[in-house]
Amino acid sequence: MAFKSSYVQSVYDATVARNGNEKEYLQAVKEVLESLEPVIEQHPEYQEAGILERIVEPERQIMFRVSWVDDNGKVQVNRGYRVQFNSAIGPYKGGIRLHPSVNASVIKFLGFEQIFKNSLTTLPMGGGKGGADFDPKGKSDGEVMRFCQAFMTELAKHIGADTDVPAGDIGTGAREIGYMFGQYKRLRNEFTGVLTGKGLSYGGSLARKEATGYGLCYFTEEMLGCMKNDSFKGKTVVVSGSGNVAIYATEKATELGGKVVALSDSNGYIYDPNGINLDVVKQIKEVERGRIKEYCNRVQGAEYHEGCKGIWTIKCDIALPCATQNELDGESADILLKNGVMCVAEGANMPSTPEAIEKFLTSGILFGPAKAANAGGVATSGLEMSQNSERLSWSFEEVDAKLHGIMKGIFHNAYNASKEYGVEGNLVAGANIAGFLKVAEAMKWQGVAY
Ligand code: NDP
Repeated sequence: MAFKSSYVQSVYDATVARNGNEKEYLQAVKEVLESLEPVIEQHPEYQEAGILERIVEPERQIMFRVSWVDDNGKVQVNRGYRVQFNSAIGPYKGGIRLHPSVNASVIKFLGFEQIFKNSLTTLPMGGGKGGADFDPKGKSDGEVMRFCQAFMTELAKHIGADTDVPAGDIGTGAREIGYMFGQYKRLRNEFTGVLTGKGLSYGGSLARKEATGYGLCYFTEEMLGCMKNDSFKGKTVVVSGSGNVAIYATEKATELGGKVVALSDSNGYIYDPNGINLDVVKQIKEVERGRIKEYCNRVQGAEYHEGCKGIWTIKCDIALPCATQNELDGESADILLKNGVMCVAEGANMPSTPEAIEKFLTSGILFGPAKAANAGGVATSGLEMSQNSERLSWSFEEVDAKLHGIMKGIFHNAYNASKEYGVEGNLVAGANIAGFLKVAEAMKWQGVAY
């Protein structure tokens, strides 16, 4: 039996029976249920209200055909998804992932985690996630536009500023959000804050682009300060990925005095012992949409290595996985620990395997789990929604200051919950518990027929 409580075990068994082939989803559920055992013990009313049974079953799942015409006039078909997981504390909120690896399990794990993450931000947002198995890589602008329009033609029936507010994620950046927003507006004839991550000229928020990466570093700095009386200053940092989260984590970690020496993409990683030149990375990734390998042609002294896993063999003090799920396994965790890593904080969603997390937790290093550490993106999406409702825009400094305050608050909430439930310093448990409590209370008060 994986769980101490036979009740929690029965909820997990039923989830496996219903979703047996969805391994990412079951991985996410198992981690959360493990953390919640002491909560259920202290709150029998949650068992009576069937909170766990309900929270592991999405309120609604939509799966749809997305057909579009490519540049050669050929019809292409993709599969689209939207999982509206939980609306107890606000409209569903979560990104849209466009990547060939997208399937129901991946979208459900992301949507499930989003419930707790959104709750941690203290803003009124429920949990959801969506996407498609479409690969924007190598597609022309016209193809991306036609795909996004076809995707939104169906999605528009299910979302709305007070119902479900999607955002960006892997493969969905400002360009894709723009095409989707344009199509929603055409179909519904209304200009509302139905998506976040919008361009600044049509309702986007300053600092949204930077928010997940910056937020990750604000969280990490607070964790270092409060738990180790330390900071980024003078630390060697490894960041995986080279997308939105990785770029702005690199920017803020550098600003806080760290030296980022590596970045990666799904083909390989670069190592620059002199510290990454972020202007070069932004030019390659944000402007040219090129590969990270190109960095070595432009910066002397930098090396490129094929394969992504090798990035974790680089000696560092702080590791920030910012690429994708399960990118850091037990073997990589062993190497990081052997090389003296003192802090790992997750920018991507579920980047560390359960085995890796176990090793980090038992070794006593600082470990910031994704739900807490990368919540800055969705928190700032929440701030974008507030600005849209007010029909006002706040300054960069105002949004950034709010983000900073929210990330500090998330650290302390997670830390205090870990203390209260007897696992002091275990922020995996602390974040799950703190996120869960607010949602559970809301579900309890709203009754069962939901
Ligand atoms: P982007 O699409 O901007 O970048 C993703 C990066 O990860 C790219 O460098 C990509 O490389 C790399 N990558 C993707 N798949 C793999 C893989 N299988 N192995 C190695 N590298 C891979 O996405 P984001 O930066 O927005 O998202 C990164 C992570 O952060 C995701 O887990 C996302 O869910 C999470 N996140 C994002 C938020 C946001 O605000 N954007 C908010 C909270 C979490 P390549 O170009 O080769 O595919």
